[in-house]
Amino acid sequence: MFNEANRAICEWLTASGTPGFAFSMVYAFVIGACFGSFATACIWRIPRGISIIKPRSKCPRCGHMITAIENIPLLSWLILKGKCSGCGLPISSKYFKTEFVMAILFTAVAAIRFYYRVPIMVIPAWIMIWIAVSSARTDLEKLIIPDKFTYTAMIFAVIYSFCFPAFTAFPGDGIRNIVLLYTILSGVATAIFGTAIVVSGKLIFGKDAFGWGDVKYMIAVAMFFNVLGMMFILAAACIFSLIWFVVDRIRRGKFRKYFPFGPFLALATIVWCILTIQKNGEIYWFWF
Ligand SMILES: [Zn+2]
Repeated sequence: MFNEANRAICEWLTASGTPGFAFSMVYAFVIGACFGSFATACIWRIPRGISIIKPRSKCPRCGHMITAIENIPLLSWLILKGKCSGCGLPISSKYFKTEFVMAILFTAVAAIRFYYRVPIMVIPAWIMIWIAVSSARTDLEKLIIPDKFTYTAMIFAVIYSFCFPAFTAFPGDGIRNIVLLYTILSGVATAIFGTAIVVSGKLIFGKDAFGWGDVKYMIAVAMFFNVLGMMFILAAACIFSLIWFVVDRIRRGKFRKYFPFGPFLALATIVWCILTIQKNGEIYWFWF
């Protein structure tokens, strides 16, 4: 029943032509900006243990309550010229940048999936891009990838496999029970694999070389993009971090003792979502 949604969107796309495609992309950009705005709230609140629903957003300096008109993604920051309307002190450009990056990435992955006639597959890509960007920022700022991010992604992976088994990374030609089994087994296999990395890292280096947050992130990745996708993303993240490690060594003149791995996992996830579509156990690559 849910699988029909993809065909319905494709039929609408064919009927509406280029204007329909353009409209979809504007829509994806707006959705991305809104989810980016929600991400900025989660990035600030979740690591600090603050509810993401209850207290309204306020200026952390003067306590000025953010009104609805001051809460429009991207636009409000520009209209307010990056200043709090209560105390006039600058609001970090990180809010604007996160919303903008999320909007651009949501549009990019949507364009590819709409073009290749798998519009429903924007859902896993959007979820993982949201988790990737948000985790990168909490890991950079607080050295954690919150469980709330990764567990939410895992739950969505199971729900998505149930609703759209024909549009997942897993083999089984859309047979729901097989796809569901693959989704869960991919998570379990990655949990075992990740635990082995954490334990061996601890034995070799005598400290936490690889965090549990990273493992949970990889489990979420495997439940959306299967074990092969997870291995690719992990390998790419290792390569990215190695390049950064060397560049950082040259710039600073000494090696860094510790650095968060989350941003590199996030970058690898984004690259994967932009370069590939995975459907029924097959990986389709495309290059621009
Ligand atoms: Zn203020």
